[in-house]
Amino acid sequence: MPTQKSFSIEVFPPKTPEGIEALRKTRAELAELSPKYFSITYGAGGSTQQGTHNIALEIQKEGFEAAPHVTCIGTTRESVRERLNECRANGIRHIVALRGDLPSSYGVLGEFRYANELVEFIRAETGDWFRIDVAAYPEMHPQAKSLQDDVDNFVRKAQAGADAAITQYFYNASSYFRFMENVQKAGVDIPVIAGIMPITNFKQLAQFSDMCGAEIPRWIRLRLESYGDDLASIRAFGLDVVTELCEQLLAGGAPGLHFYSLNKAATTREIWHRLKLDERKEIGSDKKAEAVQV
Ligand code: FAD
Repeated sequence: MPTQKSFSIEVFPPKTPEGIEALRKTRAELAELSPKYFSITYGAGGSTQQGTHNIALEIQKEGFEAAPHVTCIGTTRESVRERLNECRANGIRHIVALRGDLPSSYGVLGEFRYANELVEFIRAETGDWFRIDVAAYPEMHPQAKSLQDDVDNFVRKAQAGADAAITQYFYNASSYFRFMENVQKAGVDIPVIAGIMPITNFKQLAQFSDMCGAEIPRWIRLRLESYGDDLASIRAFGLDVVTELCEQLLAGGAPGLHFYSLNKAATTREIWHRLKLDERKEIGSDKKAEAVQV
């Protein structure tokens, strides 16, 4: 396990020119935190591959490491090969490899069934060019047959050549530690970075959580519900809860935190500062990645 902890941030590619401009401002605010890298989602919410790629290139130009997400469901080997070549040609060396989800109406699954097949393909095609991160689900992926089955499937991704993982968000620190025990028992020791979802909007969070299988513990749900439309109280409570969660995770040995920024800077910045991540050299980012020479 690495001694230096990793702190990073996820953004998504906006669909409009105004959104792209707003994300530039957000990134400028987040850049002050010196995150280890920015990851950029693909497909979620209908974003295009080009959108993901363009944001990744902007991030590189700003002097940061960019890790675009690459999904495989509904794709062919050839289209993934093109995507990998495009990344290589632009000096991108870090990707997040995922299966992704298709709308239920979509009939064609493509040439990959699961993310482990994608990881295997990327390694076979590109050797060690990429650092490959994969997804992990401490509270179980909603389509998994059982927790153990999900752990076994995670192990397959690590064995296929993943370097690290980022978790789905969760609010029970114990679920993360239990998951880590299970994967370590299975002989997997890649770093599993905890995915952190700041709390700012209860309705949106409840919807997301129902879809992705992340539990909002009853005590948190009740408190958030009790605030109704009082956004300031939701935010204040959310900051306390998430900061404490991060503290528990770091104290318990989590190798890093990956913040789901939802393209907003304020909450991630506040949590980052409360945790003093910027001052804790042993766990802060060691560098702004050198601007990639193409
Ligand atoms: P897999 O690891 O393939 O797992 C999918 C399901 O299949 C699980 O239930 C697993 O247990 C099961 N499974 C896996 N392998 C096998 C096997 N060999 N046999 C039987 N069952 C198996 N979605 C997007 O569309 N775009 C994004 O940018 C994006 N970014 C994400 C980032 C992170 C950090 C996370 C945690 C999720 C992200 N997602 C994204 C959501 C993700 O695509 C969905 O959760 C998707 O349903 C599963 O993707 P996966 O890579 O985990 O799939």
